[in-house]
Amino acid sequence: MQKRKAVLIILDGVGDRANPQLDYKTPLQYAKTPNLDRIAKKSVVGLMDSIAPGIRAGSDTSHLNILGYDPYKVYTGRGPFEAAGLDMDLEPGDIAFRCNFATVDENLVVVDRRAGRIKEGTEELLKDIDGMVIEDVKIFVKPGVEHRAALVLRGPGLSPEVSDVDPHDTGLKIHESKPLSEEAEKTARILNEFVKRAHEILKNHPVNKEREKEGKKPANIILPRGAGMVPHLEKFEKKTGLKGACVVGTPLIRGICKLAGITPIHVPGATGGYDTDMIAKMDAVLEALKNYDFILVNIKATDIAGHDMEPRKKVEVVERIDEAIGHLYENLPDDVILIVTADHSTPCTVGDHSGDPVPIMIYAPDSRREGEEFNEISVLRGSLRIRASDLMNIVMNHTNRAEKFGA
Ligand code: ZN
Ligand code: ZN
Repeated sequence: MQKRKAVLIILDGVGDRANPQLDYKTPLQYAKTPNLDRIAKKSVVGLMDSIAPGIRAGSDTSHLNILGYDPYKVYTGRGPFEAAGLDMDLEPGDIAFRCNFATVDENLVVVDRRAGRIKEGTEELLKDIDGMVIEDVKIFVKPGVEHRAALVLRGPGLSPEVSDVDPHDTGLKIHESKPLSEEAEKTARILNEFVKRAHEILKNHPVNKEREKEGKKPANIILPRGAGMVPHLEKFEKKTGLKGACVVGTPLIRGICKLAGITPIHVPGATGGYDTDMIAKMDAVLEALKNYDFILVNIKATDIAGHDMEPRKKVEVVERIDEAIGHLYENLPDDVILIVTADHSTPCTVGDHSGDPVPIMIYAPDSRREGEEFNEISVLRGSLRIRASDLMNIVMNHTNRAEKFGA
């Protein structure tokens, strides 16, 4: 048996429902997708539940499940994956948060949750804050894009079960973080003390004095949210024997891959937005196949169109993806299988993730030829009706790497 490699393309949130603006078709049904359709004709096809039927998955929990990590065991919040996506050094047991730089008035009421979408100076602002020690807990902070940042608490006796400091809206006073369990009292206390100390440093910081002089909003507070404990994930290569890489624009998914030991590949032009260069992403995949056995690709633009409730935009994005996947397919080496699916549905009629199952197709040179077109309805003719937790077993089978159970 020749062992094969695999490319797994996740069209983020591409699954959808019947849309009145598209003659009650889904965007995938409505879009012209000659390449996806010709691949479907040579593929095993069907539907996949991101977690289980009817469960609305986040991108983080579904990607974990797809990669074979039970989100009910390893997921306590989004923070650790965001922090890993910013290349912070994490240790299992650390408590991590997503943060915003924000602007508050003298009564700690939030004036701007994004500090005027601050673009420069965040690194400098954090200089005297990163590395702070409170009691026996060491604190690390790292800036992300614009107003975003991540916060990590490291020390004994910490828990992720604390409420957000971020009030999630303007005009509200910042919240005091509350312990949601007895074990979390220390964490809440330290988090609140951190926010206070950081505010003292930030409000008098030269970068902010300069911003105020220029009429810009000062980034005078850090608002943590989304606490989670850094899980211990068994390395993907150890679990599967597949040396993994990923081509992913969004920090959240990048972070999941990093914690699983899947190497992120930087692609110039891959932004994680509508303007992402999809052909460049596919070229990066083809290049990465020389050194890796498994490449995960995430294309985020479909999810954005779903959240924006713009079915026509979603159709347009799908048609651009079709072209890029056509390019990949034509250049795909013979020993590589191709899987196209989604991490969840983001229906344009809903504007958020839903529990509707997503289409999936698995192409190998010798796979059973079940499909006709690649969309939620056409794949019903195929044999698959699976949960994402089954996917890696199926990948192992189609790459001829599965171990035989029995004699
Ligand atoms: Zn997603
Ligand atoms: Zn989404």
